[in-house]
Amino acid sequence: MTNVPELFGTLVFNDKVMRQRLPKETYTALKKTVDSGACLDPALANTIAAVMKDWAIEHGATHYTHWFQPMTGITAEKHDSFISPAGDGTVIMNFSGKELIHGEPDASSFPSGGLRSTFEARGYTAWDPSSYAFIKDGALCIPTAFISYSGQVLDKKTPLLRSMKALSEQAVRVLHALGDTDVTRVTATVGPEQEYFLIDKELWKKRKDLIFTGRTLFGARPPKGQELEDHYFGNIRPRVIAFMDDLDRELWKFGILAKTRHNEVAPAQHELAPIFTSVNIATDHNQLTMEVMKKVADRHGLVCLLHEKPFAGVNGSGKHNNWSISTDTGINLLEPGKSPETNLRFLLFITAVLKAVDLHQDLLRLSVASAGNDHRLGANEAPPAIISIFLGGELTSILESMQSGTAYQGKKGSKMQVAESIPEFMSDTTDRNRTSPFAFTGNKFEFRSLGSTFNIACPNVMLNTSVADVLSEFADKLAQSKDVEKAIKKLITDTYAAHKRIVFNGNNYSDEWVEEAKKRGLLNLKTTPEALPYYSNEENLAMFARHKVYTGEEIVARKEILLENYCKVLNIEALTMIDMAGKQIIPACIKYMKVLAETAQSKEALGISADTEKELLARINALTAEAFKANGRLSEAAVNVKNIEGHEKQAAAYRDVVFAAMKELRASCDELETLVPESDWPIPSYAELLFSV
Ligand code: ADP
Ligand code: MG
Repeated sequence: MTNVPELFGTLVFNDKVMRQRLPKETYTALKKTVDSGACLDPALANTIAAVMKDWAIEHGATHYTHWFQPMTGITAEKHDSFISPAGDGTVIMNFSGKELIHGEPDASSFPSGGLRSTFEARGYTAWDPSSYAFIKDGALCIPTAFISYSGQVLDKKTPLLRSMKALSEQAVRVLHALGDTDVTRVTATVGPEQEYFLIDKELWKKRKDLIFTGRTLFGARPPKGQELEDHYFGNIRPRVIAFMDDLDRELWKFGILAKTRHNEVAPAQHELAPIFTSVNIATDHNQLTMEVMKKVADRHGLVCLLHEKPFAGVNGSGKHNNWSISTDTGINLLEPGKSPETNLRFLLFITAVLKAVDLHQDLLRLSVASAGNDHRLGANEAPPAIISIFLGGELTSILESMQSGTAYQGKKGSKMQVAESIPEFMSDTTDRNRTSPFAFTGNKFEFRSLGSTFNIACPNVMLNTSVADVLSEFADKLAQSKDVEKAIKKLITDTYAAHKRIVFNGNNYSDEWVEEAKKRGLLNLKTTPEALPYYSNEENLAMFARHKVYTGEEIVARKEILLENYCKVLNIEALTMIDMAGKQIIPACIKYMKVLAETAQSKEALGISADTEKELLARINALTAEAFKANGRLSEAAVNVKNIEGHEKQAAAYRDVVFAAMKELRASCDELETLVPESDWPIPSYAELLFSV
């Protein structure tokens, strides 16, 4: 038995440790810095560093590292040991304030989208004291922001912190106008639900596609998939439970609030959800969670697949970004309370989100765009590529009646009581519309379009900044008004009227919605190459500049990095397919054809009919020829597209030419898999991969 409270946060230099170990004045000053989101006074750094080092060494650390989130999508670390020569052939363990607050990793090998030329290859990292330091793999990890020498951001954390600041400033202005003058800070809170697959490591090792690309590029459908829906919330198998137990323990040590675990819809698919925290911490924790998942799986002879679509024809994995905003006085601004119809503050913030999402559909859409996620969005298992909001019947009718000036009729027939002993609940706020990309779920919005591998920073930068921008406009309007209550009501009704096209409470998977959304003028950016160019639209550049989240240069750099990444992913996938088809699948078919031909020959020599062998041989022969030709076409396409100049054009060509050729190759190979004996097929089947754990 584990004593969870005792275990929780043991690897974290958290508030409790700081309070116990830091001199009182230092602790108070640091806490003030963190609570106000200000920069750390360098004078404090030496004291904090020394205390941190002692604590880290007591907990087995020998090294320290600035832990940061470059544009690669994963986290980066470079370990330095604490050793320092004492001059007499011995060493002492040393860690200065300067080393705590400032690092200088060589930035030249991280994507910068052209922001930095090689002669100024150095970047620097700066401690983010709002995220606790922790110990991982024997190193004290200091969460940091990563910036180029000339001050441009090279990472995902810096813009996130900037967007949090913008949101806080503008929300506080609005709240002060509403009379909530005791609020000094507002924080975006997030709880990201993480989906993943677990498969057997020995089988994984036999699939180059999984090794190189994280997803299967070939594979015929198994006889049983997810159609019986017997996996969702089903019994968790012993090997998986052992993994989950171990995972929770590891996460708790890092102070991560791992809360819920269950089986997901697809076979071998599972989910983990933490309790929400501030978006900055949630981002760090989610990055760490993904890393720990992979490591713990490995210990259990498993591989954790975080790809958005590891298996064709089986549900892929996403990440649900539950987002809300809370004040430092403890109010969740998206909490409707008992009578939302009279809760003007709540309605004002809800309409601010409506407007932000409507105006910035493009940004939300592109923040979830990637080669992997293109397989999910719009595939009737994840939200469509069209961004819309589910508000639910109750909230929609409140806003409708305000707009039309009629009295709100109350909660129309939505009260449900299932049984005597079960309390009543509002069917609307609990019965979520699972098809919506952006759903109001009672006291928060759930942005459901994120892919499972995503760093949640970018989608939240978009959300925070867009909402901040609308709130700033609201604050300006409220500041000019004489009758604030009247002004608020007018803002709510005007904003709702102007932006209600973004509200859709129906089935987002239906074809009618695609038509309807088009009529409403909503964007439908189906693929990554279509979505990413919106990054640098004039309005977007202006908005990010207004709130000092990104400079124009930084945006263009980000767009380039993401487009280039899309191209690289497709190139690797194409090359992996060419290799597998050419070296594994086609040779296996040729070998089996030889067996068939010889069998047919010897049967006929004995005067026995060999019709079956001959028919099968002919079929396999034709398909193998098709696969061979398709492989040639794919090779050619891959070479041609690689030479195209300009990432935007190249990305579109990868999608239209290379991806199309990949599909053709896969079709013939997958059919061949159904004709060749299991024992002769060179790679593990879907059935083995999905049902082996
Ligand atoms: P679901 O039915 O989608 O699984 P849950 O109620 O279990 O929804 O919550 C999902 C996530 O939402 C959890 O991570 C939870 O901590 C988070 N969440 C709850 N309240 C808030 C909030 N105010 N802000 C951000 N996230 C929240
Ligand atoms: Mg959810």
